Amino acid sequence: MDGEKTHWHTLNPREAAQRLDTDPRRGLSAKTAAARLEQYGPNALAEGKKKTVLQVFLEQFKDLMVIILIIAALISMATGEVESTIVIFSVLLLNAILGTVQHFKAEKSLASLKAMSAPSAKVLRDGSRTVVPSTEVVPGDIVELEAGDMVVADGRILENFSLKVNESSLTGESEAVEKFTDAIAQAETALGDRKNMVFSGSLVTYGRASLVVTGTGMETELGKVAALMNQTQQRKTPLQQSLDNFSKKLAVIIMVICAGVFALNLYHQLPLFTKDGILSALMFAVALAVAAIPEALSSIVTIVQAMGTQKMAKQNAIMKDLKAVETLGAVSVICSDKTGTLTQNKMTPQKIYADGSLLEGHDLDLVNDVQRLLLKAALLASDATTDRETGDIGDPTEVALVMLGDRIGIDEIAYRAQHPRRGELAFDSDRKLMSTLHDIDGVPTLYTKGAIDTLLERSSFLLTRNGPVEMTPERREEISRVNMDLSMQGLRVLSFAYRELPDFRPPTLEDENGFTFIGLISMIDPPRPEAVRAVADAKRAGIRTIMITGDHKVTAAAIAKQLGIFRDGDQALSGVELDALSDADLDQRLEKISVYARVSPENKIRIVGAWQRKGKIVSMTGDGVNDAPALKAADIGVAMGITGTEVSKDAASMILADDNFATIVKAVVNGRGVYTNIKNAINFLLSGNMAGILCVLFTSLANLPMPFAAVHLLFINLLTDSLPAIAIGVEPAGDGLLDQRPRDPGEPILNRSLLLGILVYGALIAAATMGAFFIGLNAGGAGLAMTMAFATLTLARLFHGFNCRGEKSIFALGLTSNKASLGAFAAGVALLAAVLFVPGLNRLFQVTLPSAPQLGLVALLAFAPTVVIQLWKTVRDAVKKHI
Ligand code: ATP
Repeated sequence: MDGEKTHWHTLNPREAAQRLDTDPRRGLSAKTAAARLEQYGPNALAEGKKKTVLQVFLEQFKDLMVIILIIAALISMATGEVESTIVIFSVLLLNAILGTVQHFKAEKSLASLKAMSAPSAKVLRDGSRTVVPSTEVVPGDIVELEAGDMVVADGRILENFSLKVNESSLTGESEAVEKFTDAIAQAETALGDRKNMVFSGSLVTYGRASLVVTGTGMETELGKVAALMNQTQQRKTPLQQSLDNFSKKLAVIIMVICAGVFALNLYHQLPLFTKDGILSALMFAVALAVAAIPEALSSIVTIVQAMGTQKMAKQNAIMKDLKAVETLGAVSVICSDKTGTLTQNKMTPQKIYADGSLLEGHDLDLVNDVQRLLLKAALLASDATTDRETGDIGDPTEVALVMLGDRIGIDEIAYRAQHPRRGELAFDSDRKLMSTLHDIDGVPTLYTKGAIDTLLERSSFLLTRNGPVEMTPERREEISRVNMDLSMQGLRVLSFAYRELPDFRPPTLEDENGFTFIGLISMIDPPRPEAVRAVADAKRAGIRTIMITGDHKVTAAAIAKQLGIFRDGDQALSGVELDALSDADLDQRLEKISVYARVSPENKIRIVGAWQRKGKIVSMTGDGVNDAPALKAADIGVAMGITGTEVSKDAASMILADDNFATIVKAVVNGRGVYTNIKNAINFLLSGNMAGILCVLFTSLANLPMPFAAVHLLFINLLTDSLPAIAIGVEPAGDGLLDQRPRDPGEPILNRSLLLGILVYGALIAAATMGAFFIGLNAGGAGLAMTMAFATLTLARLFHGFNCRGEKSIFALGLTSNKASLGAFAAGVALLAAVLFVPGLNRLFQVTLPSAPQLGLVALLAFAPTVVIQLWKTVRDAVKKHI
């Protein structure tokens, strides 16, 4: 703050707050915070060194294809074709500009995705607690931390409740480090010495704390490391890498063929070589190279991926990188939490069990001592509140308990005030219990609620209307039976117990023993209506859904049945049963198990691993701190946007903005859609190129004049072909995507059937183009032949855009279901018309204007391949239907 470096860890909390002009109880004022944001800039790490526009622009010329084009331009210049040279250079310039624009657009769209998944922080501003995006945290802010949070700035701890953090992103040390309020360490050599400070990038694994922010953004320890490494090189996705490899191989093949064509053309001129002859042979080779290189391919793939992720984000699935979209389309097993993801997490009380009788919740009778104590434990050992105006606040399980009291007119807040809490042991998913200590007429009494499997075995007595009696095996059996009956109806059952403690000291985990069991309260958490449909959709798509929950096995299996996850012959397994299985046994039973209950985070990792051993691509959901390793281990880790901890969001590759299972299935289908669209766009671009190659090869072998000039092919590849390719890329995800099996992630995108399609489609278009070429050659010579061939190739490829929209015929897909494809076609035709008819422009493209009937023939010939392809698709679909 004051210019020179402050050793924050040597100051006590009050001094630190003073230095930063902040009030530890009220935090900064909104006005000061805004001014500091202005002064210090957003709290974010610089993304390595950003490239300048000029750098990106110049990079566009580093490409092999551009070098070939420059050679083409030089050759054109040497032959005196100034117009051609101008066109090629303008095309190169245009291409470089487009490439630059696209680079920054992709960067912007990634940045917006990043912003959506950026962590938030709880800060005190003007005396109240608000949640702000981590980028808006400023020095002097008072930040509150709790387990599961990500530390977003460096800060001096003000108040500490057993805080433990994982600082591995800074120190590499994965063991959690305990923090203190007052430990003023002298040495400053390692972070570990500054135990009264927390650092940006750490994860809170345990406890709570409040801190005053001392450094943000690049001024944090993490920022300094990042600045040193100047990292974040954007990695290419596997698909981009495989396409890059393909392009490289293609370039070599093209070079070899070009050399062959050049030699062949020279051979045709034997025995006399002229300068013009050699140059024309060169032009042939150049045309072939230009025809073959898919100039727009890589940018189109990126555009389609970026548009796909934007669409997914609108549908509540926020992808953290483009790579995940590809993997998402290949997911074959979805492991999902139950509560809140598959169910609504809206609990309503149902039956209760106390003093040997099972009754409806609304029949609860306060005259009965056991029933009264059951409600007392339920209200005291929970924190939730319900209110008509402010709505329900707190854990839905606890809200259900409060609702039970509400029904008979008990106000939970007033009731709790009568029996103040003197200590507590908070709920945690591993222990599955929560206890609170109260002063009941001077007697320290611990009320405990939680999972029956844990609580029942810790109970030595059972409360009856005649007072506590010994908990015999028969009584235990009876309670378990009631629990089983309720659980089989899909109800969540919570059990309650109490015990008296010798004095009012803070309770410890050892105190959660020797209870007197009171009774049970069951509650219903209905499945989300859309989840049933989503499970069915997933099944149709060949994707297995597995339920993984902390809830009771029987309850979980009952809900899984209602959702269609658990089918006849399936098995449900508890975490303990899973622990007892060897890997080999698990592998053998895996396919049968559709529900895992009472699981630990370690169990989740094992389940992911077992499915992966079977070659499956697994998605796993998680919300807690401990889920992070399982999310990382899964192919697609899915975090909950609403209830998830920052740690889980950090570990995930996808965040569900609505915590909804149906969103996962939708995202997988979208992932498939993006992949399929990219494949179709590649099919379109390469089959069009194939047509060009075949024409050039054919004419050079047959010693005919050139069918196209390099500018023609550039015009097609970069302009008229790009538009339908993008339109194919945004093809709406059809229902057909659900009928496919999950993709084998090992299969290359350019598989045999795709390559065969490229060859056949290419040959059909080439045949039509050559038809037009010969008509032109006979009617008006080489100039007309070239124009007619060029116009036919352009138009045929524009028509071909409709063929590549999907597997099915255009009638099945619907001509108007992709408006972009119609727009792309119209724009392409307009561009072609401009080149043919606009004076000046047609000179640049060496156009010899065909007559009206000749143009009619061009249109017919260009349409012919599409008619053939569509007829074939229609017949094939009809035959398929009848088999
Ligand atoms: P999922 O993993 O599907 O989200 P879940 O919400 O049921 O499942 P947890 O919240 O870990 O998982 O709950 C596990 C068990 O702990 C529950 O079945 C219940 O018996 C008990 N439990 C849940 N909430 C509380 C609570 N607030 N107090 C005491 N016990 C609870």
